[in-house]
Amino acid sequence: MALAGVWGHLLPALKADLELLLGSNGDANMEGALIARDKVGVQDFVLLDSHTSEAAFLNNLRKRYQENLIYTYIGSLLVSVNPYQELDIYTVTQMQLYRGVNFFELPPHLYAIADNAYRVMCNEYNNHFILISGESGAGKTEASKKILQYYAVTCPTTEQLQTVRDRLLLSNPVLEAFGNAKTLRNDNSSRFGKYMDIQFDFKGAPVGGHILSYLIEKSRVVHQNHGERNFHIFYQLLEGGDKDLLCWLGLERNPQKYTYLIQVSGSWNGSGRCAKVFSINDKNDWKIVRKAFSIIDFTEKDIEHLFGIVASVLHLGNIQFEEDICSDALRCLSSLGYLYFQVLSPLNVDLAFYARDAVAKAIYGRTFTWLVNKINGSLANKVGFFFEQFCINYCNEKLQQLLIEMTLKAEQEEYELEGIEWEPIPYFNNKIICDLVEQKHKGIISILDEECLRPGEATDLSFLEKLEEKVGDHAHFVTRKLADQKTRKSIDWVDFRLLHYAGEVTYCAVGFLEKNNDLLYRNLKEVLCNSKNSIMRDCFLLSELDNRRRPETVATQFKNSLTSLIEILMSKEPSYIRCIKPNENKEPGKFDDFLIRHQVKYLGLMEHLRVRRAGFAYRRKYELFLQRYKSLCPATWPHWHGPAAEGVERLIKHIGYKPEEYKLGRTKIFIRFPKTLFATEDAFEY
Ligand code: ATP
Ligand code: MG
Repeated sequence: MALAGVWGHLLPALKADLELLLGSNGDANMEGALIARDKVGVQDFVLLDSHTSEAAFLNNLRKRYQENLIYTYIGSLLVSVNPYQELDIYTVTQMQLYRGVNFFELPPHLYAIADNAYRVMCNEYNNHFILISGESGAGKTEASKKILQYYAVTCPTTEQLQTVRDRLLLSNPVLEAFGNAKTLRNDNSSRFGKYMDIQFDFKGAPVGGHILSYLIEKSRVVHQNHGERNFHIFYQLLEGGDKDLLCWLGLERNPQKYTYLIQVSGSWNGSGRCAKVFSINDKNDWKIVRKAFSIIDFTEKDIEHLFGIVASVLHLGNIQFEEDICSDALRCLSSLGYLYFQVLSPLNVDLAFYARDAVAKAIYGRTFTWLVNKINGSLANKVGFFFEQFCINYCNEKLQQLLIEMTLKAEQEEYELEGIEWEPIPYFNNKIICDLVEQKHKGIISILDEECLRPGEATDLSFLEKLEEKVGDHAHFVTRKLADQKTRKSIDWVDFRLLHYAGEVTYCAVGFLEKNNDLLYRNLKEVLCNSKNSIMRDCFLLSELDNRRRPETVATQFKNSLTSLIEILMSKEPSYIRCIKPNENKEPGKFDDFLIRHQVKYLGLMEHLRVRRAGFAYRRKYELFLQRYKSLCPATWPHWHGPAAEGVERLIKHIGYKPEEYKLGRTKIFIRFPKTLFATEDAFEY
C-alpha cells in the first residue's frame, strides 16, 4: 500500500515531456572517447567498478551532485539531477565549446547530447529523437528549452529562417501559459505531455516544427488541490490585462472573485491564497505571452476570441443554480463576443453543476488543442484522477518498452556488426503489461469500452467484474476478490491493482465509465457548435451532432495517439535524457537518498546500465585505441605500419590483457571491465 501511495503520487507526473526529435545513437560516437575522468566520481556509470550495485550508483550520483556536476552518462544516455539553482554552464561560450566535439571528450552535458544528435542527423540523413523523462519537477521542460536554445544559437540560419527559429522558441511561453500550472511539486508544472519535432533542411538549418500535445489535465480548470493553481493564463490575464480589455471581457482584477480560481477540491477557499506565487511574475509573463502571440502569427481576431474564451470560462464558474430554476445559465458565454442564449434544461442542481463544469472543461481542453493546432498539428486528451493516472502509467509502460527494445536492439546490432557473439541478458520485458492494457478484445481498455457501450446497464462495478472475469488470471492484475490469494495484501472492493514495471499501483474504478465516455450534454454541445466565435466552431464541429457516429472513447483516443507516437519514435534514432528530482523542497544542494533511489528504479537506470554493461563496458575503434596507447609498447611506438587491428593485438599482448578481458571485433576492440581500461590509462599516464 505504501508503494501504491508513493507511485500513485509520482507516476502521474512521469509524463515524459517527450521533447525533441533528432537524437542519436551515441554508441556510434563512443569510439573516440578519451575518457575525461572527473576528479569527482565517474562521468559515465558504465565505468563504475561495482556496476550493478545501486549503492555505488547513488554514491557516484551524490558525489557529483555535491560538486554541482549535475550530468552523468550511462553510455549515451544522460542522467540529469535538478540543481534548483542557476548554474554557469549554459552560456554561449559553453555552447560553442560543445559544438562538433566528440561525445566523451568534455564533461557530460545536455549540449553534448544535442550536438551529437544534430551531427549524426546531418551526417547520416536520418531522423532522431531525444526522449526526456522524469517525474514532476525533475527538469524536463528546462532541459528541452535549453536544447532548443542550443540549436537556436549554434545552427546555421538565414534572415528568412530567423522567423522559424523565433517561432519555435516563442511557442513555449504560449504553451506554458495555457498548459502549465503551479502544483505542490513544481511551480511551473506542465500539465500536458509534449512531443516536439524540429525539421532541419539539408544544410542543417531549422526550417519548421511540430508540437504534439496529449492529455491536457482539463479537470484543473474546475478545481485544484490545496496550494495549487489553475492554469497560468487565468492569473496572467487578470494581473496583466489592461483595464479596457478586462472591462470588455467583463472581468475584475481580483482572482478571489472567480470560483474556478478559489475552488479547492470541492471546498470554497484555499487556492485563491496562492494566486500569487513567489517564483512567478504573472504580469511579466503576460507581456511575454502577448508578444509571443504576435510573433507566432496570431491575428488580432484570434487573440480576441482566445481571451474571450478564457474569460468565459471564469464567468461560467461563477454561475450558480438553485432548485427549480432552470439554467438560463450559459448566457455568460456572451463574453465569447456575441453569444447570448438560454439553455432550458430540466436538470437538478447537482447535474446542473456537473454540466457547467463539463462545459468549462470541454471549452478549455478543446481550446488548448486548437491552440496547439494553431501552432501546428496536434492530438489531445484529457481526463480525471485515477482514470488519468491509469492512462499516464500506461503511457510510461509504452515508453519503457520502447527504451528496452531500442537499447537492446542497438546493442545487439553492434555486436552482430562486429562479429562478436551476443550473450543474452536477463531483463524484465514489460510487453506483458502493455498487452494487458491495450490488447484488442482482451485488454483493459477494450473491456472498458465494451462496458461504455451498455449505457444504463453498465456500472463501474460491472466493469470491475468484467475485468475479473477476463483478465483475472493475469499475473499483473489483482482485484479484491483475487487479492488475498495472490498477494495477501488487502484491497478495497472498488479497486483494482496493476503491477506496473515500476511498482504496484492501486486504481479506484469509480468514475472510469464516466471519464471514458466524457459526456457533454448534447444541447450544450449544439450551442457551442453554432457559436459565432470561430475558434469555438472549429473546436465543436457540427458533425459531432450526428447521432449515427459514435465518438471514440477517451481511453481509445489516448491509445491511438500513443500508438502513433510510438510509431513516430520507432522510426527515429533515440537519445535519452533522464531527469531526477533531488528533493521535495526545491532546494539546491540537497540530495535525498530515498527519493532518488525510487527514481533510479522507475526510470529503469539500473536496467539500462546492466544492458549497457552486460557485454562490454567499453569499445573503441582500433585506430583510436592504438593512437592513444601506442607508447605503451615498443612494437607500436612511435609508429605502427600494419593494419590497426594487428597493432592493437600486439599492444594488448604486451601490456598483458587476459583473454576474458576483451574481444576483438571487425573494427573495434571491446573491453569487458572498466578496471582494465583504467589500468591502461594509469600506465599511460605515468
Ligand atoms: P513537470 O512534469 O511538472 O512539468 P518538469 O520536469 O518539466 O516538471 P521543470 O519545470 O523543467 O520540471 O523544472 C522545475 C524547476 O526546477 C524549474 O522551474 C527550475 O526552477 C528548476 N530547474 C530545472 N532544471 C534546471 C536547471 N538545469 N538549472 C536550474 N534550474 C533548473
Ligand atoms: Mg514540465
